[in-house]
Amino acid sequence: MFNNLRELIATMPDEKSCRDYLIKERWNGVITCPYCGYERCYVIEGGKRFKCASPACYKKFSVTVGTVFESSNVPLKKWFTACYLVNAHKKGISSYQLGKDIGVSQKTAWFMLHRLREMMKIEQPEKIKHTAEVDETYMARKYRSDYKGLSEEEIDYKLSRSKDNKGAVLGISDRKEGTIRVMAFPSNKLEFVQDAVKENVEKGANLHTDETRLYNSLETYYHREAVKHSARQWVKSSISAGKVHTNNVENFWSVMKRGVYGIYHQISYKHLQRYCNEYSYRYNSRTIKDHERFVEVFKNMERRLDYKTLTGKK
Ligand SMILES: [Zn+2]
Repeated sequence: MFNNLRELIATMPDEKSCRDYLIKERWNGVITCPYCGYERCYVIEGGKRFKCASPACYKKFSVTVGTVFESSNVPLKKWFTACYLVNAHKKGISSYQLGKDIGVSQKTAWFMLHRLREMMKIEQPEKIKHTAEVDETYMARKYRSDYKGLSEEEIDYKLSRSKDNKGAVLGISDRKEGTIRVMAFPSNKLEFVQDAVKENVEKGANLHTDETRLYNSLETYYHREAVKHSARQWVKSSISAGKVHTNNVENFWSVMKRGVYGIYHQISYKHLQRYCNEYSYRYNSRTIKDHERFVEVFKNMERRLDYKTLTGKK
C-alpha cells in the first residue's frame, strides 16, 4: 500500500484505482446497491457506474453515491490527496493553500474541507468511566480581540462572564484513554454544559475542572475536584482522585487555537463544530501514522454534507 503522500499518489494515480479503493473500503470489494442493499449488480459505463440487478430496484449508481464524494466534479485523486493533507497537517490546512496544492479554486477547496471534516466527526462515543477533565474556552477571535493585553486565562474569564459570548467550546478529556471530545455552543450556558457532561461522562466518575461555578451543580452526579486557576494553581493532589488538573484539555486548546488563529484566522460560529471535529480527530489519532489516519477516516465516508446544509443557501 502506501506510507506517505508520494506513495499514495503513485498507488492510486487515476480515477479507476481510486474507485477500486473505495469499492474495497466501502463494500469489502462486493459492489452493493446503496439504495436497496442488493449485492448483485451489473457493471456499466466501462466500470464507472453500476446497475442494481434486483428487479424491484434496477437503479444505477456509482461508488460515490451516499458518500462525502457524491455529486462532486472534483476527480477522486484530488479528493484523496486533500484527505491525506488535512489528516497529516497538525495545525490544519487553509482552503487557499489546499486549492493551490491540488489545483482547484479556493471556493471548491473550502467546500471539500468542510465535507472532509464531516468524516472526522466522532459519533456517539462511550461514556467516560473513570476520570474526565472538563474545561471551556472561546474560539471566536472577534470577541477575544476586545480584551487586548490580557492573558489567555484572563480573557477566558472575562468572556465566561459576558452574556453573549458566541462560540463557547467545551472540551471533555478521558484521562485514561488520552482522548478528547469537543462541543461548540452558542454560549457557555449552564444547561448546555450540564447536558454535555452528563451525555459524555458516567455518573459517579471523577470530574476535574477549574473553579468556574458552571460545574458546581454537577457535584451531585460526580466526584468533582477543582483547581484554582485564578490563584495560579494548575495541579493539586487529592487522596481519592489522584492528580487533579485539566492540563490535557488545556494542551488541546493551545494546539487548536494556534491552528485556528494561524491557519483559518476567523471562523464563524455556524461552522465551529466542524473545526472542533477536525482538531479533535487528529488529536485522538495522534499516536497513529499519517497514512493509517487516512485509511481510518475512510471508514466514515458515508456521511454526506450537501451544499444547502453547509451554506444555508438553496
Ligand atoms: Zn438496488
